[in-house]
Parts: sequence; C-alpha cells; structure tokens
Amino acid sequence: MGCDNCKENKSIKCTVTQCANHCDTADYCSLSTIQVGTHEANPTMVECTDCTSFQLKK
Ligand code: SF4
Repeated sequence: MGCDNCKENKSIKCTVTQCANHCDTADYCSLSTIQVGTHEANPTMVECTDCTSFQLKK
C-alpha cells in the first residue's frame, strides 16, 4: 500500500476521515500534536469532548 504523502502519527489514532489532517491510508492523525477540548460547561461523557484541531477536508 502506497503511503508517500502520509505522515501518520502512530500515537494519535483517529477515524475521522472527513478531517484534512487525517491520514488517508491509515486510521491515524498526521499532526505531531492535537488539541482536545470540550463544548460543554461540565463534560460528563465522551460525546462532550472534541478534537479542536479538526479541519474540514476541502
Ligand atoms: S486533527 Fe483531530 S480529527 Fe483531525 S485527523 Fe487529527 S485527531 Fe483526527
């Protein structure tokens, strides 16, 4: 499997293929670091958290 442009970060697994930072050929992020945040005042479950490094693939 060719992966010439893919710089997957094996420390950041991700399945969000709609993200511009996602590695197309494997389920990893290509960034060296990501920022995780929340959109809730008092997060209580996984759905409350977000990858704020997400960028919509154009
Ligand atoms: S920036 Fe966040 S959502 Fe996008 S590929 Fe990386 S970990 Fe996934």
